[in-house]
Amino acid sequence: MPLFVIQVRCSHCSEEHPTGMVLKLDDGPLAKESVATFAGDGPIPPDLRILNSVFVCPLTGQSYRPESNDHVLVVPSPYRL
Ligand SMILES: [Zn+2]
Repeated sequence: MPLFVIQVRCSHCSEEHPTGMVLKLDDGPLAKESVATFAGDGPIPPDLRILNSVFVCPLTGQSYRPESNDHVLVVPSPYRL
């Protein structure tokens, strides 16, 4: 099963930072895609509901939350389980 890594666009520096989250998805995107685009009109998959999660920007050291599901990115990895 393909593995995907989750990145979040940072509200402090506008870079996309890895979150350390790795997910198995049966029908994940073929290229990097936001959760908003990936879910479309359907429900956000439970594992991707991370708008309340707090991350730390590695450049500024400040904490941030994803501003929206447009800022949460699902990225295909070369690894499979
Ligand atoms: Zn940052």
